[in-house]
Amino acid sequence: MLSLCEKGQSHRPPSFLSIFCYTVSMQKMGQKIMPKILDGRAISSKIAEQLTQQILVCKTKPTLVIIQIGNNEESNTYIKHKRIFAEKIGAIVKYVHYDEDVSEESVVVDIETYNTDTSIHGIIVQLPIPKNLSESRILESIDPRKDIDGLTSASAMHLFNSEKGFVSCATKAVLVLLDNEQIDVTGKKVVIVGHSALVGKPTALALINRNATVTVCHAFTKNLDEETKRADILITAVGKPKLITKNFVSPGQIVIDIGITVLSVEEDGVKKKKVVGDVDYEAVKDIVAAITPVPGGIGPLTIACLFESLLEVYENLGRL
Ligand code: NAP
Repeated sequence: MLSLCEKGQSHRPPSFLSIFCYTVSMQKMGQKIMPKILDGRAISSKIAEQLTQQILVCKTKPTLVIIQIGNNEESNTYIKHKRIFAEKIGAIVKYVHYDEDVSEESVVVDIETYNTDTSIHGIIVQLPIPKNLSESRILESIDPRKDIDGLTSASAMHLFNSEKGFVSCATKAVLVLLDNEQIDVTGKKVVIVGHSALVGKPTALALINRNATVTVCHAFTKNLDEETKRADILITAVGKPKLITKNFVSPGQIVIDIGITVLSVEEDGVKKKKVVGDVDYEAVKDIVAAITPVPGGIGPLTIACLFESLLEVYENLGRL
């Protein structure tokens, strides 16, 4: 099923691919082989080092506005990590929090102020926002030149037309991970579970633009396990822990888990927060060829990609 090891790929540098092909053949012979753990945290650290060097020579600090409305648990986790990352690389995060009952108008007015403020280079609205507010109106009020999470319709059109532009940072993280591991998706069967405008759809478009054969699944997909088992590359972005069990995967697959859920657990009598993905990692990791862990996979890479895009706007500021 897996065609990453086909002829024509052998000229590529061996690193991941040779390990991967070996893993696939051994798995096909029924041998239990350790999967490659796709370490997003390591790539994120490398990006952080590069960004730190870039920011050191900046006259002013690249500044990101993060808008949060309400108090979603997963959003709190993302924002905390974005702020830690910013501090590490020397960027500034201006965190703006609104209560759930804020009016749409006042959020839009504030965003318009950030649009014209030349000391601000990126604006993101941490999703989800409360259902009583129009997500599209709020997102559309962001100046596309500062839309570093690629959520305005202008950014979506760039992606649709295969033009350069900002994409969802989770999508960008998937592309960076694939590039880093030298995984060419041309002609590969990619199955994406989740079709949100934030993750599933932009990731599908970005991979179609790279000539993958993409199937997008969602809550109404029938026989999800049959779809996911057919994938060369399985990407999940749902937010349901253990949705993808060992019965949903096949030997030789690459599994990229974008899902993040924060669970409250009790370990040794101590209440803790535990971050998990959509994939039953322990059960799946011994079947597939490569897998991203949660935490430590796409999450940290998404944050690094966000700040990479922030620097891009900063460097283009002269043209704003
Ligand atoms: P979302 O808007 O809630 O979308 C979830 C998607 O999953 C929807 O398309 C939904 O389909 C689908 N779905 C729900 N139940 C399903 C099921 N049983 N089987 C198949 N599909 C199902 O969430 P999102 O914003 O896309 O985020 C998805 C996950 O990624 C979340 O866990 C989020 O925290 C995480 N995330 C991670 C990062 C990162 O950096 N790693 C970044 C962004 C988001 P329907 O619309 O048909 O219900």
